[in-house]
Amino acid sequence: MMKVSSLDLKRQYESIREEINKAVLEVIASQSFVLGPFVESFEYKIANFCCVKHAIGVSSGTDAILLALMACGVKNGDEVITTPFTFFATAGSIARLGAIPVFVDIDPSTYNIDVGKIVPAINKKTKAILPVHLYGQCADMDVILEIARKYGLVVIEDAAQAIGALYKGKHAGSLGDIGCFSFYPTKNLGGYGDGGLVATNNDKLAEFIKILRVHGSKPKYYHSYIGINGRLDAIQSAILSVKFKYLDGWSEKRRRVAAYYNEHLSGLPIRLPKIESHNTHIFHQYVIATPNRDALMKYLGSQGIETIIYYPLSLHLQRCFEYLGYKEGDLPESERASNETLALPIFPEITQKEQDYVIDHIKNFISKR
Ligand SMILES: *Cc1c(COP(=O)(O)O)cnc(C)c1O
Repeated sequence: MMKVSSLDLKRQYESIREEINKAVLEVIASQSFVLGPFVESFEYKIANFCCVKHAIGVSSGTDAILLALMACGVKNGDEVITTPFTFFATAGSIARLGAIPVFVDIDPSTYNIDVGKIVPAINKKTKAILPVHLYGQCADMDVILEIARKYGLVVIEDAAQAIGALYKGKHAGSLGDIGCFSFYPTKNLGGYGDGGLVATNNDKLAEFIKILRVHGSKPKYYHSYIGINGRLDAIQSAILSVKFKYLDGWSEKRRRVAAYYNEHLSGLPIRLPKIESHNTHIFHQYVIATPNRDALMKYLGSQGIETIIYYPLSLHLQRCFEYLGYKEGDLPESERASNETLALPIFPEITQKEQDYVIDHIKNFISKR
């Protein structure tokens, strides 16, 4: 039996081992570990890549979102409109500030926030819209930005899964007031530990975030604000700078892997990812959907194929958010997605033989039913 894992980071490391090891040793030799020149040089690369004025390295994707919300003045009692079908950090960061996540259902074809449902969720307490570019495909930003302009709201993009994704030719994370990235090891651009970044074209917000990331102090030991310890490490930055050179190539390979799945899974009774024509998808995940999801996952697992459910419980139904008062059935598309979606193995180094093995076993499963 073949084994196909959902992600194999060891293959990637093997392909860049010498460069990575050298970069890490260089940081150790410098004995400059937190912020500093390695971080600045990485920030500069990402700012250029995303075509934004400011890129600010921070401690994680979660802290990127937290700092973005703090910089926009989101506070106790404010409402922030977001999607319930995302990683916990999106809504967790809102709630940690005492603000209220207001969940709007998703578009079942892309799994991104349904922009047609945003306006009815706006009221006097609404401060911001926080769309997520799920699985590496941008939410419908033109509509979101137009709504935000009309109602005077801030737009913070959760681009944790979308570095390099394009919306009408523009980079994910560069479209709203602030964009948030994650360099968690499994992300398309992953470090060897936690890391994140905030992107913005707004000089004032950038300055504020830089202060907030060092406990709200400027100059050092003088605190005008209550910030956090939100700094990015030099070792992560040096590793990410090496990996960044390969990002476009890796994204292209992911698109090819996705196209191969599309070609060979089309015509089967499962729903395949839909790419909006104005989007360039980077396929952080390749997600299919079927009402027989659990049985399919079990069967694939028995054949050595690892698949993952992102996400098994919609955020509005999480126990920690009980106080928000949602109940089952409130956001049916998100709930259905959490019951029916399954992420297939995808990473730049996956072989065609491995993909064929996955495809054959999906076909086996379907023909047996
Ligand atoms: C990974 C992720 C985050 C959080 O990033 P961390 O670096 O793990 O803190 C936030 N939002 C989404 C959608 C993510 O996928």
